[in-house]
Amino acid sequence: MKTAFVNGNIRALDTENGVYEAMLVADGKIEALGSTADIRRRAGSAGRVADLGGRHVLPGFIDTHLHMMDHGIYGLRTADLYPARNVEDVVEIMQAWLAEKDTPDGQWLEGFGWDQDLYPGAQFPTCHDLDRVSVRHPIMITRRCGTICSANSLAMELAGIDRHTPDPAGGEIRKDEHGEPDGVMLESAMSLIGRIVPKLSDKETIKDIIAYAAQELVSLGVTVAHTEDFMSVGDKKALMHAYLELQEEGRLPLNLVLQLRIHQPADLDSFFEFGFKSWDSFGRVKIGPIKFLGDGSLGAWTAGLNEDYSDKPGDRGLVYYDQDELTSLVATVVNRDFDVTIHSIGDRSTELFLKACAANMDEIKRKGFRPSVIHSQIMNPGIFDLYEETGAIAIVQPMYVHSDWKIADARVGSRMEYSYCFRKMLDAGIAVTAGSDLPIESANPFHAIQVSVTRKDLTGEPAGRVVSGGKDRPAGGAQTAHAVRCSGVVRRGPLRHA
Ligand SMILES: [Zn+2]
Repeated sequence: MKTAFVNGNIRALDTENGVYEAMLVADGKIEALGSTADIRRRAGSAGRVADLGGRHVLPGFIDTHLHMMDHGIYGLRTADLYPARNVEDVVEIMQAWLAEKDTPDGQWLEGFGWDQDLYPGAQFPTCHDLDRVSVRHPIMITRRCGTICSANSLAMELAGIDRHTPDPAGGEIRKDEHGEPDGVMLESAMSLIGRIVPKLSDKETIKDIIAYAAQELVSLGVTVAHTEDFMSVGDKKALMHAYLELQEEGRLPLNLVLQLRIHQPADLDSFFEFGFKSWDSFGRVKIGPIKFLGDGSLGAWTAGLNEDYSDKPGDRGLVYYDQDELTSLVATVVNRDFDVTIHSIGDRSTELFLKACAANMDEIKRKGFRPSVIHSQIMNPGIFDLYEETGAIAIVQPMYVHSDWKIADARVGSRMEYSYCFRKMLDAGIAVTAGSDLPIESANPFHAIQVSVTRKDLTGEPAGRVVSGGKDRPAGGAQTAHAVRCSGVVRRGPLRHA
């Protein structure tokens, strides 16, 4: 069956960057582009005709880094605390969630999106508030930043947290005036609670979650998603079966590339056991690279930098591997037929990784692989050379300009010239691709395009200037006719992977 889509404004992004009036689609594939008259004629009398009424048509978007499982878990299994305007609202939303879900005793209740800055007296929800929701269910609710949570008394008991528990490095177990933990866990202390929340292993539940996220992505025009989900489940094989069964059942409406995240080198075996290798295809599901963690985040001063943080002298953040460890990790992974990618925000971390790739370049080339860096936020001129040497791909997050501009100047000062510098990267010939990092940021590609063009957040801030790091240009003149106005509020999720 042929369908002629006519009277449109079709931007093919082909080599001629052509704009066409009409296209002919046969069996789900675009067969021809041309004028309305031409395409109508080619469709023939048996063909269907769809009048686009002047609407725009674009090729599907490819999102090169996001987390479908986490997004689905927040959407389907976590109470939405964004509407709360005081602690009482938080308690009521959680009580309603418990009643609605009819959760058996002992099972976890989770919420996401509270923000004490919006509440009278900047009051945090504490264990005492959450104990009013339930003392028979462990409860963990996460602040909208994703780096602070509150837990009820049962959750703290299960985690073994009491007045004698020391603060972990980089975190704080908040205490009341009597020295008792009040349920609020800051930064790394959050993981004391987070690590005991059971991960999903039930295949049917996982399928529903992936299908939910897939529908949302397709509704935004995303037709290929590079998704990192294996750390979000308790059973990697159940997840792999879930993708493939969804495909068989016709419930996977987009193509997936799986980013295989490890927590530590010992986790590699769990992927080697599958018997697949990078870039194997199973219909719509393709095996991507092994991903490891290079450093932390800018917000928490844990991104690995070459020089001190501008707002924290003496601190250069952290990197998870030194040069030798990283070089040998890349070698191990590539020798086992897997491509490599890394979470790297800071310049030190990105340098270490690209040097590790350079040291393994013969083998990487022999296998036809191409390493990539997810985030690559804080750059320096030397890193441009390393990108050239390795041919690595940068997987950047334009929406981080939206979210980070308030802190980025303070953290790295004059290094902003080489940070979030997508234009400079493109001009230098680096292969730059964009990922949303959903659910950390909105997956709407038009939001990302707007932020990339305007170098301002979605509300137009900072007014009167542009966030540096892009191509130098006068403030105010950057917005083009192509930039899409947006009124949506972007939902930020926990930085679970960072
Ligand atoms: Zn991510």
